Amino acid sequence: MKAIVVHEFGGPEVLKLEEIPTPRPAAGQVLVRIHAVGVNPYDTYMRNGAYAVKPSLPYTPGSDGAGVVEAVGEGVHKVKPGDRVYVAKTVTGAYAEYALTLESQVHPLPAQITYGQGAGVWVPYGTAYHALYQCTSVRAGEIVLIHGASGGVGIAGVQIARALGLIVLGTAGTEKGLELVKREGAHHVFNHTKPGYLEEILKTTGGMGVDLVLEMLANVNLGQDLKLLAARGRVIVIGSRGDVSISPRDIMTRRGSIHAFTLWGLTEAEEKEIHAGLVAGLENGTLRPVVGKELPLGEARRAHKEILEPGAFGKIVLLA
Ligand code: NAP
Repeated sequence: MKAIVVHEFGGPEVLKLEEIPTPRPAAGQVLVRIHAVGVNPYDTYMRNGAYAVKPSLPYTPGSDGAGVVEAVGEGVHKVKPGDRVYVAKTVTGAYAEYALTLESQVHPLPAQITYGQGAGVWVPYGTAYHALYQCTSVRAGEIVLIHGASGGVGIAGVQIARALGLIVLGTAGTEKGLELVKREGAHHVFNHTKPGYLEEILKTTGGMGVDLVLEMLANVNLGQDLKLLAARGRVIVIGSRGDVSISPRDIMTRRGSIHAFTLWGLTEAEEKEIHAGLVAGLENGTLRPVVGKELPLGEARRAHKEILEPGAFGKIVLLA
């Protein structure tokens, strides 16, 4: 099979398209013919070798994909050959024509969800779901600011928050991104590259502040987020690419709080709950992953460059 293989940590050039043996499922494992692979920012941090999770070399990147079950190992009852599935983490890596997974890592892909969309489920929707359901409790009518709403996690957050009855404020850095965020359910949109947008956000809340912030770039925004909070407001740090300084008094005076997590730290029980919620949302049309760009698997290097550039528009997906 064709697969992307990384033999040494480094820039996008270390992603090599190679011909390697197709794996065979052992007991409890599932072999999936991957049709689409979700590219996530963490794939690039991991490839650099500077990420908290460091795979042993060589490795095939990717936790997110969608396709069809090719074969199952002994004792697998959840799926059978021919079933459409999305994968959430794998044993052998999703940037490949076939990926080996554990039985617990495959989930049904409803008929109306394309493989491209299915490749954009786990990391983006798992993250947004955990933030809004498990990390803190949110109530209908609360105001959420999705700071970085045009990308994979942001769009997922907008759709879930809107379905929960929150008042959704979303930011993007381009007109196209702003239109997408509005189309997917944000009540108000703001351009995070325009001076004065934070004041505009505060004005939109009638000066009261926001109840919740989902923050995609905490190293840039966390200090300002705290100043935007309403009483008992919460910031959930989802993404950060460096250090930041904050004024603790901004939290103290509001009785506010900062929460943070990585998907790698979730428990099995939390993951099980998340997938039950995600499959239901995909089935009933609440969750509609947006694929902004599809590239062939062989263009993984380009995808790794573009995922870190401004101008996000949903997901970048590789077709295998
Ligand atoms: P993505 O698809 O590349 O989207 C990035 C988002 O950040 C876009 O909406 C982008 O907007 C926005 N952004 C750019 N500059 C910004 C600024 N100054 N202020 C606010 N937002 C800004 O990435 P993603 O998959 O959504 O992930 C977002 C971040 O969360 C990444 O850093 C990722 O590593 C992290 N993450 C963490 C977890 C976790 O477990 N904690 C899970 C998933 C993702 P424009 O392009 O429109 O400017």
